Amino acid sequence: MKNTDDIWDLADRHSDRFIALSDAVFDTPETLYTEFKSVAAHREALVEQGFRITDNAGGLPTAIIGEAGEEGPVIAILGEFDALPGLSQHSGETEPRPIEDGAHGHGCGHNLFGAGALLAATALKDWIEANNIKARVRYYGCPAEEGGAAKTYMVRDGLFDDVDAAISWHPAPYLAVNQEPSLANARIDYTFHGTASHAAFEPDMGRSALDAVELMNVGVNYMREHMPDAARVHYAYMDAGGEAANVVQARARVRQLIRHPNLPGLKDLIARVDKIAEGAALMTETRMEKKVYSGVSNLLPNRPLEEAMQTAVEQLGPVPFDDKDRAFAAEIQATLPKGAVDSTLASMDYTPSAGQDISLCDFILPLDRNGVIRAGSTDVGDVSWAVPTVQLWGATWTLGTPFHTWQVVAHGKTPLAHKGMIHAAKVMAGTARMLIENPDLLASAKEAHAARLEKTPYECPIPDETKPPIVQPS
Ligand SMILES: [Zn+2]
Repeated sequence: MKNTDDIWDLADRHSDRFIALSDAVFDTPETLYTEFKSVAAHREALVEQGFRITDNAGGLPTAIIGEAGEEGPVIAILGEFDALPGLSQHSGETEPRPIEDGAHGHGCGHNLFGAGALLAATALKDWIEANNIKARVRYYGCPAEEGGAAKTYMVRDGLFDDVDAAISWHPAPYLAVNQEPSLANARIDYTFHGTASHAAFEPDMGRSALDAVELMNVGVNYMREHMPDAARVHYAYMDAGGEAANVVQARARVRQLIRHPNLPGLKDLIARVDKIAEGAALMTETRMEKKVYSGVSNLLPNRPLEEAMQTAVEQLGPVPFDDKDRAFAAEIQATLPKGAVDSTLASMDYTPSAGQDISLCDFILPLDRNGVIRAGSTDVGDVSWAVPTVQLWGATWTLGTPFHTWQVVAHGKTPLAHKGMIHAAKVMAGTARMLIENPDLLASAKEAHAARLEKTPYECPIPDETKPPIVQPS
């Protein structure tokens, strides 16, 4: 087995710079199209490394693209840098302690995600230039993954049209090529318009929009029994019609988040939810208005790329964690909910041997796991419909750490997270190198992708008239 590669040395050469980038993004957590400081930090690193830059990519003020190399195949490396609301937490601490109460925090590790992806792109750029190779590497700095579906808009805008393959990763409590399914989803706002009236004096003159929302939710709750097991519907009241209980609510809005394992199934489920909304309007004599807020597609797997990435991670070996990392992880594990470690192991179909230290994932999971499926959604799904795509789960957190928790944020600037990030960058760069050096591999990835699309053509889950909810810099 080969266990050196100059592209890994190139990644190591830049590791301090990109650890600093990850830490800087951790310190300025920003959400949903407001990632101005985070994108500026990425821009600075792209300029330093000599990438050709496209600002405002796809009309999104916090999206950026950096390209290097000439001619040849175009390899996309995807990065994200948005945070989550309410998850402020000090890094390196093993109890919940917000930096600022109620403030944002990197609860999905996207500070590592963006910087690690840019480190991979930089190592690849250096390797292309040092060896005079005809190939292009393109870093996609993507905002608003959490709830904003920026990549879906970027795909819709044609930003991936000339890309040959896309490589990405996500921080995780384990090390594996990502073969887990993700769910297609749509966030749809249903607004009901009724008639205001004094709720005691003239109730018969009023028609309640809030009643319509409540009846809609009752309808959706009854539908749950008759949905496919893997489908999900969640809701949030966006507008309950105001605080005055003595006024019949003339308007109310509910957001339904509808998920299904595939796009045709999602479309069918949305049609059923629409009927429920229409029924609620009919029952309450209100008027219903529907608006799609965002949507993403399910991930399409790509076998040739999965095998290539598995080869890359096996050549590199597991993340070189040390005893200090393990001691921190053991302290974090003590704070996790009961069953969290077992649940993580079951999801990845891994049974530890007797006495094995399982504070951190210092092993490599094989392909074709048969784990307990837990699926969320990601806008990488839409990229995977546009071009052959592969992702790594990079081990950056204590085994058992649930996503979107203070424990994830607590890992943010620790040496163990930095090691996992650099490791993931090396796997991505190594996979890209294989694709560039082996045109047959790239061709078979494209064939597998085309065969998938032949069965089910891509249909963007966001309607043409829906624009991204961008925020302009102030
Ligand atoms: Zn994430």
